[in-house]
Amino acid sequence: MELLFEKSVPDRGCDLLPPLDVPPAHLLEGLERKTPLRQPEMAEVDLSRHYSALCRRTHGVNNGFYPLGSCTMKYNPKINEELAALPGFAGVHPLQSADTVQGCLEVLGWAEELLCEVTGMDQMTFQPAAGAHGEFTALLMVKKYHLDRGDPARTKILVPDSAHGTNPASAAMCGFTVVNVPSNSQGGVDLEALRAAAGPDTAGLMLTNPNTLGLFDPNILEITRIVHDAGGLCYYDGANLNAVMGVARPGDMGFDLVHLNLHKTFSTPHGGGGPGSGPVGCKDFLAPFLPLYHAAEGEDGLEFQHPAKSIGSVKSFYGNFAVVVKALAYLLTLGSEGITEAAQGAVLNANYMREMLRDSYDVAYGDGPCMHEFVLTLAGLKREKGVSAMDVAKALLDDGIHPPTMYFPLIVEEALMAEPTETESRETIDQAVAVLKAIRARADSDPDSLHAAPHTTPIGRPDEVSAARHPVLRYEFPAE
Ligand SMILES: *Cc1c(COP(=O)(O)O)cnc(C)c1O
Repeated sequence: MELLFEKSVPDRGCDLLPPLDVPPAHLLEGLERKTPLRQPEMAEVDLSRHYSALCRRTHGVNNGFYPLGSCTMKYNPKINEELAALPGFAGVHPLQSADTVQGCLEVLGWAEELLCEVTGMDQMTFQPAAGAHGEFTALLMVKKYHLDRGDPARTKILVPDSAHGTNPASAAMCGFTVVNVPSNSQGGVDLEALRAAAGPDTAGLMLTNPNTLGLFDPNILEITRIVHDAGGLCYYDGANLNAVMGVARPGDMGFDLVHLNLHKTFSTPHGGGGPGSGPVGCKDFLAPFLPLYHAAEGEDGLEFQHPAKSIGSVKSFYGNFAVVVKALAYLLTLGSEGITEAAQGAVLNANYMREMLRDSYDVAYGDGPCMHEFVLTLAGLKREKGVSAMDVAKALLDDGIHPPTMYFPLIVEEALMAEPTETESRETIDQAVAVLKAIRARADSDPDSLHAAPHTTPIGRPDEVSAARHPVLRYEFPAE
């Protein structure tokens, strides 16, 4: 598809600016451009068609089923976008004085209160921009907490081998050494290995529960006790909170800190690189270490307070505020009963889809029920028919279904991890199941057509290695 600059025709345009009715202001000497600004010159109709065409070439929740495991690609109510766009929210400036943005501060405080209730935490910051950023923030707090106690020997973070890759990456970025904790045969944390790894050098544990296999660890209380007994802190990666919100709370499981992905669980669409939010909640004893800009009651109403031993700022001002507005709107619309029902619906849909697929695909760690997502292993299919997880994922695209997460978690061979979410109907799931069953049948009858899939998308199988290693991100203008 041609870029706007390639479609541009000199002197064509669609700008209609009112005549200048103020004295023109001139830039300071020496700051003027040397060459005119290059902008595509197009009629509005061509511009509109360009973006509509781009829109048709992408797949989002508005196009169809999007069961991307660990990402909670649920449908997000449009009204929450409208609320976040209200002028009183969208038009404020971060440098406005607190007395002029009392309503916005109230939103931050109210969202904090409700999300603390959901997670069992005492205080929360909205500064981090995403989950990984929240991990980084929380681990800086862990680090400062131990240093503040005069215990600099705690340099290690325990991370189960089923963890999301951001967990060890965040720990390493904070200067910690990562200790890998193996999973047991049921897919949970191996308690013996955890006991052996925890000690006076343990700063903390990072855990996702339910984990990336979609399994709730039945030993969770024992796990957090082992880490606490060794003097470490317990950090909850809340990316999978959609499975347990309103039902079980990380704070009651023994966790000291959590991050949430508001762009997964709480009504902000993601996947297109738009703004996210990864708030970090903590228990009271860690609150002095929270980042700056904490909205709280002061002498003259609400104000931003700076926690006493703060790790400092991890982002400018108070984070991606509009995402918090959407989360609050979502929480208030659903209420505590609705939040619980959403989690239950997510778990029901995942179990339904998994059982419907059981006679066609192998379920990894599939003995008991799953939570909000499940993992298939196509190792057998690949051995017997030469059809891989990648082939099945690509074939789904031809039926307008976004593939599940592929080749993750790393401990499952030829993994496909599916998360239908609570916002999908039984009809949609039944249809996806039928498509997956048909693909499984093609693995017997016509495996080559699967190797060549997808057949109907604008791009088939891009060279992913080159795309990652040598990305072409800049348009080179032809020499004039
Ligand atoms: C998505 C995810 C993260 C990272 O969150 P981002 O918002 O993408 O930075 C961390 N852990 C798990 C388990 C996740 O699924």
